[in-house]
Formats: sequence, structure tokens, C-alpha cells
Amino acid sequence: MRFDQLKLTYRILQPKGADVGILAPRVTINRKRIGAGIAIDPVAFCQSVRSAGEHFIFTCGCGVPGCARIYRGVIVLHAPDSIRWFMPEPIREPMEEDPSPAAPDNRWVYREYRFRLVAYRKALADALSQALSLAESNSRPVEIGPYGFSIRKLKALARRLQ
Ligand SMILES: [Zn+2]
Repeated sequence: MRFDQLKLTYRILQPKGADVGILAPRVTINRKRIGAGIAIDPVAFCQSVRSAGEHFIFTCGCGVPGCARIYRGVIVLHAPDSIRWFMPEPIREPMEEDPSPAAPDNRWVYREYRFRLVAYRKALADALSQALSLAESNSRPVEIGPYGFSIRKLKALARRLQ
């Protein structure tokens, strides 16, 4: 069976004139960027390792998915060795709604991905420890999205994944 390759990495953005850095996530599946410019909820991501169901892994920077017009989460299914994603595409509704009543309501699809469980868990654990070391070694304070998320919470999350 062929598995899809998930990778989550972080980097620090340093906006001009701002006195804090921003820890920005980057998700790729099979080396293709997914959800560019959309925040990641690390708690929901970690929950998807343990429990099946709908997870709002992609969210608004404030932590409320609907605020970024994200109305459908990633549907996660578990098998003994694998995790399947049914990812809504587009992840969020277009910002400019088509005002035409004739516009179809179902312009989105669920795309299926299948990840090896150990690889999925490792991708996540690696990303969290990378985020932690970036945040801790940065010369200025770092904001970790979504809003209200802290280094302390990130540490606790990383520990639980070990
Ligand atoms: Zn928001």
C-alpha cells in the first residue's frame, strides 16, 4: 500500500517593526504545500493521533475556525497502522462569496490521504520540538498560534506525544 507523506515544519517570521516573532507553520503532503496562510491548531493536530472524528487542524489565527470561513474540519479515521484524512478542499470558503443564487453550494470535495501512523506521529513530534527550540532560541519573544497558545502549552503537548 502506498502512503502519503505528511510534513509539518515551523519557521519564525519577524515582521518589520514588530517586537515579537511569529511562529508560522508549513504543512506539506507529498511535498505539496497545504493550507498556505492558514493557521494550524497543534492541539487538534495532536488529538487526531488519538481520536477519530472531525478535527479542526486548520483554523483561524484566533483559534475560531469559522472566523476564517473554515466550516468543515478534517475527518480523521484510524486503522491499526494508519491514519486517514478526508480533507475538505478548499479548506476555507472563498472570502468573496458569489452572490448569485444559482451558484452551486457544493463546490468543495473531500480529498483522501493515508498516512502511516508511526510516520504521522513522528512528523508531529518533530514539528513540535522544532517549534519549541525555535521559540526558545529566538532573541525576541515569539507568538505561537492560534491566539493564546503558549510555549508552556506547546511543551506539555510535545511531552504527551513522546
Ligand atoms: Zn479569527
